Amino acid sequence: MADGAPTGLRYPWDTPPDHGVPVEVADGVLWFRLPLPMKLDHVNVYALDDGDGWTVVDTGFASKKTKAIWQEMMDGPLAGKPITRVLVTHHHPDHIGLAGWLQSDFGAEMITTRTAWLMARMLTLDVQDVPNAESLEFYKRCGMNPELFDKRAKERPFNFGDIVAPMPLGYTRIKQDDVITIGGRTWDVHMGNGHAPEHATLWSRDDNLVIAGDQILSSISPNVGIYATEPMADPIGDWLEACERLATLAREDHLVLGGHKLPFTGLPTRMRQLIENHHGALKRLEAYIDTPKSATECFAPLFKRSIGEGEYGLAMVEAAAHLSHLYQMGQATRSLRDDGAWVYQAKQ
Ligand SMILES: [Zn+2]
Repeated sequence: MADGAPTGLRYPWDTPPDHGVPVEVADGVLWFRLPLPMKLDHVNVYALDDGDGWTVVDTGFASKKTKAIWQEMMDGPLAGKPITRVLVTHHHPDHIGLAGWLQSDFGAEMITTRTAWLMARMLTLDVQDVPNAESLEFYKRCGMNPELFDKRAKERPFNFGDIVAPMPLGYTRIKQDDVITIGGRTWDVHMGNGHAPEHATLWSRDDNLVIAGDQILSSISPNVGIYATEPMADPIGDWLEACERLATLAREDHLVLGGHKLPFTGLPTRMRQLIENHHGALKRLEAYIDTPKSATECFAPLFKRSIGEGEYGLAMVEAAAHLSHLYQMGQATRSLRDDGAWVYQAKQ
C-alpha cells in the first residue's frame, strides 16, 4: 500500500545492484536484481552456493530480456557450477516466471509449495483470448469504472502464460515445518499466506538470514487482493494470521532477504507494521462505509493517494479484499447495486 521507509529498520546496503550484478549479502549468498516492466520495476532473486551447484530463489518474468540477464549471470558470477535447484517462494509471475525454463533448459530441480505449483501450472495452461464471463462479473461486482470495463471486455486479457514459461510436469514440495539444506545452511520452512496462498519463507538455523519472498517486504506493503478464481477468499484474514505467526519468529538481528526493495534488519518492528497497516486500513474503511460503497469507491481511505490506471487493478482487488473481510467478520453488510457492484455498509 503506502510507500516510504518505516523507522526502526536498517538497510545494510543503501542502493540496489545493477541488473545481473551480484552483491554478496552473506557467505555464499548472492543478491541479484532483475527488471520488471511495471511501476514496481524490479524483483530480487538470490543464488546460494551449494558447493557443487547453485540453488536460486525466484526468477523474474519470462521475457527475452530477463533470460538474457540470466544467461549473463550464468556465464559470469555463477560460472563454473550449474544451477541445480530453483526454489520458488510463491506462484506470482515475477517469482515463478522462468522456473520452468530453468527446469527444462538447464535441468534444475523445481522446489516450491504445492499450492504455488498447482496455481502456476493451472494458470499457465488456462489460455484466454477473450475475458471469461466470471472475470467480467467479478469486475462488475468490484465496481470497476464503466469505461475501463468496456475496454477490458473487448481486449485480450492478461494471460499468465504471457510472462511465465511453460512448466514441465513435476516438482519437489516444501511445506510448513520442513527443514531444508541450501547454501551450507539448514533452514526451517514457514508458510506465509494472504499475498499468495501457501507462500514459502525460509529461516536459517545457522545464521541470521530469512528468505522472505513477498510475505515480508521492507518499504512497501505487499498487495493483498481477491480474484475471480476465489471471490469469497479472505486473504486479509489469512495475511493477519500468517504475519502474527511469523512475528513470533522475528529477531532484531535477522537479515531479511525479500522479493522486492532492500534487505533489512529490524524484523520485529516490520512485522508489527505489516499487521498494523491492515488493522489501520480496516478501521479507516469501516468509518468510511457509513453509507454503502463499492470497492472502487474506497480507494481514498485505503491508499491515501490518487490511483492511476497502472495501479487501478491492484487497488481494486485490494479494496475488495478489505471490504469482504469486514463483511465476512460480520462488521459490514453488503447488497447488490443496480450497476452490478457489491456495496458494503458498516453495521452501526
Ligand atoms: Zn513479487
